[in-house]
Amino acid sequence: MSFVFLGPPGVGKGLIAKMVHEKTGIPHISTGDLLRDAAKNGSKEGKKAREYMHKGRLVPDHVVIDLVKRRIAKRDCKKGFILDGFPRRLSQAKALSKSGIRVEKVIDFKASHDTIVWRIKGRRICEKCGAIYHVENVPSKKEDICHKCDGKLYQRDDDKPGAIKKRLKVYHKKTEPLIGYYKKKGILIEVETEKPIPQILKETLSILK
Ligand code: AMP
Repeated sequence: MSFVFLGPPGVGKGLIAKMVHEKTGIPHISTGDLLRDAAKNGSKEGKKAREYMHKGRLVPDHVVIDLVKRRIAKRDCKKGFILDGFPRRLSQAKALSKSGIRVEKVIDFKASHDTIVWRIKGRRICEKCGAIYHVENVPSKKEDICHKCDGKLYQRDDDKPGAIKKRLKVYHKKTEPLIGYYKKKGILIEVETEKPIPQILKETLSILK
């Protein structure tokens, strides 16, 4: 069973996907994480991707699609997976459908513009295990340090004010049309996220059942 988590940057889909993975074992594939790893590894593609990410732009399709295909081909994805941050434009959704992967359900996570900006500004990531925190909403029990693995917390470059506006603009222009695309296919379900995290998780899990 394969699922797509859709929604603007900062809506919390990555955090919920990680929690779902912890509860159910369903692999969580975040194209943002795959691209950040590729950039860290210093490959030619990774370095190029970093330039796009830094500017809040979408990385070219061939790079992302190739990363996703390679990740999906791994054994742990045989029974299904959650795609978080992919597809992000129609051409990617069409490539996914052409590759024969059947998407069971698409969850469209929703929040107001102000909430999204507040969530992005306060987001902190553990550099060691990738855990996602928010300075007010989901704080670590240890200041500036991940309470799960003691890794240092950092703010993503593209979560800083300069890139946020651009990323949201790109979302509205390129990614939002996917809502209509999946609605037409009859597999889109909305989840409102302006509520406590345990409630969002419960709703999400009941959709994935
Ligand atoms: P995210 O961690 O999902 O917020 O993604 C961070 C950045 O990675 C985005 O702003 C894009 O630059 C890039 N990225 C992630 N997923 C995709 C995708 N499916 N297509 C193109 N670029 C992507």
